[in-house]
Amino acid sequence: MRLIFLGPPGVGKGTQAKLLSQRYGVTHISTGDVLRSEMARGTPLGSKAAEYIRKGLLVPDALVVEVVVRAMNGAPKGFFLDGFPRTLEQARALDGYLQTSGIQVEGVVHLRLGLDEIVRRLTARRNCAGCGELYNTLTKPPRSAGRCDGCGGTLSQREDDTEAVVRKRLVVYEDLTRPLVTHYKSAGGSLFYEEVDGSLPVEGVTQKLVEVLERCCVPKPTFSRPPAL
Ligand code: AMP
Repeated sequence: MRLIFLGPPGVGKGTQAKLLSQRYGVTHISTGDVLRSEMARGTPLGSKAAEYIRKGLLVPDALVVEVVVRAMNGAPKGFFLDGFPRTLEQARALDGYLQTSGIQVEGVVHLRLGLDEIVRRLTARRNCAGCGELYNTLTKPPRSAGRCDGCGGTLSQREDDTEAVVRKRLVVYEDLTRPLVTHYKSAGGSLFYEEVDGSLPVEGVTQKLVEVLERCCVPKPTFSRPPAL
């Protein structure tokens, strides 16, 4: 199964792509996670990416495309792309990769959410420095303030989740990423395009997405006629 998760930052693409990739046994490819891990390891790519991420800007297409191609090559059972493509240039690079490698993306799921709710959600987001578990001070607070329920690690806010940077990220989304909605809506062919309401609770969104995937991707069992007696 190969899908693109489209939608603004904070809509829940990462949460859903992670849950569903476990359910369907495919690789979750999050460009944001890969870039943050490069930053944490202090690699040349990480240092370059950090300059953009901290300001709420997009990392240059060439750098991101290279990362994603490497990840897709290492995902023979399929992948869910989370946070990629984010520009028309990246979408074209993806099309080129798929064409030359002879594989197909089955569809695009677009998670939708209003701008005010995105700012509210993102500025309340915290993550554990120890195990990476995600919290939200409004919707999923830890039992003890600032501490991870699981490993006791310290919870912190991503540098790009402050209100000023979130607002910048949303402007970038509107300018550069939203045009992909029209691009994929009108792509036609065998590629499906489905929208899901991202304002539902996590389990509600998962359920809607499972319905979409069961309807659009997962092969239905075929029943062969029993032999005539
Ligand atoms: P995310 O975790 O998906 O919200 O991504 C966090 C940040 O990583 C973004 O604000 C960008 O700076 C960078 N980033 C992630 N994916 C991409 C991409 N496909 N193209 C360019 N920059 C990206």
